[in-house]
Amino acid sequence: APPPAAPSPATPRSRIAPNYAPLPVEIVAGEGAWVTATDGHRYLDLLAGYSALNFGHRHPALVAAAHRQLDTLTLTSRAFSHTLLEPWAERLTALTRTDLALPMNTGAEAVETAIKAARKWGYDVKGVPADQATIVVAAGNFHGRTTTIVSFSTDPDARAGFGPYTPGFRVVPFGDAAAVEQAVDDTTVAVLMEPVQGEQGVVVPPDDFWPAVRRTCDAHGVLLVADEIQSGLGRTGTTLALDLWGVRADLTTLGKALGGGVVPVSAVVGRSEVLGVLTPGTHGSTFGGNPLACAVSLAVLDLLETGDHQERAKILGEQLATATRALVDDGLLVAARTVGLWAGLDVPASDPEHSVVGRTLCERLLARRVLAKDAHGATIRLAPPLVVREADLTWATDQLRDALVEL
Ligand code: PLP
Repeated sequence: APPPAAPSPATPRSRIAPNYAPLPVEIVAGEGAWVTATDGHRYLDLLAGYSALNFGHRHPALVAAAHRQLDTLTLTSRAFSHTLLEPWAERLTALTRTDLALPMNTGAEAVETAIKAARKWGYDVKGVPADQATIVVAAGNFHGRTTTIVSFSTDPDARAGFGPYTPGFRVVPFGDAAAVEQAVDDTTVAVLMEPVQGEQGVVVPPDDFWPAVRRTCDAHGVLLVADEIQSGLGRTGTTLALDLWGVRADLTTLGKALGGGVVPVSAVVGRSEVLGVLTPGTHGSTFGGNPLACAVSLAVLDLLETGDHQERAKILGEQLATATRALVDDGLLVAARTVGLWAGLDVPASDPEHSVVGRTLCERLLARRVLAKDAHGATIRLAPPLVVREADLTWATDQLRDALVEL
């Protein structure tokens, strides 16, 4: 029999590998929470670059910092020093109340870095026998797209066809503290999880989950590694999502908003006993910590240090929670999960996992000049820029109501 036909690209003439199915809108400009498309229309951006645009499109302070740095110095590599890296690390560790920062570029790289650091800590400090380290992760996780990271994904789309898989991961249900406790043994070096699962549809664990996981980690000498790449830096109304539960991680991965939607900047921040196990030659990145990244990220830290954006996420989040709860009360949504200015909405569907109703809703929202993205199946996620105006958010949730009525 002939081999099955390859999936066709989005447009027959496209030269782009078909790993995305974008909504039919071509964006040419952006300012604040709004973008302009080639069709001449303005759209309110409720995805915000998967939370990379927490401060909106082209925040003036971030653009100015980038312009200044472009005229000065863009790249040295870490073979040499430059004047912005140490101040950046100083201020990022102060903001996140920890010891050391390790700069990378993308989220997946930061997660890979945290996995490497946790394993090396396990062998050097905890005394785990060579190549035996295990890491406990959550079902429904999303930590990026590298081969090691997809090895412990439970999403068949993300994982299937990319083996052989990296061993050393144990998957437990998200939000189940007893399952975490049971999965931990003498080989366990870390529990690695998102504080709130973003790509899974803004899934918030039970209130006692994070304090219990922290206790388990302390009792068994296991690192708590929080992936705050999507949840961190203001989105939840706090600087870090784990602040909501008063829990501190040993290592935290940051990305997305750390570069303000201008340049890719990611980092692992954490305790010196852990990140200190990395020695020259054991890890690195050509672009990680480059002067342009540091200049923009320092301007991001200026914005975060005031606490204003975190406060805004909290206030606007209450508005978003009220509006989406009303949609549940009116039977237009099955569920609305919100934390800060972040919502996962479940649309009625007979088979929620395999339904395309989330995508259909996003297409209807597009027709109403609102940009949103389905998380999967019948679930969509809203993550407006934290700078969105109250009136614009009200307008957007009105559009959402009308689009749901139309479905
Ligand atoms: N970790 C989390 C929690 C994420 O949400 C994402 C991206 O959505 C990543 C890691 C991967 O980041 P990147 O796409 O920059 O590699």
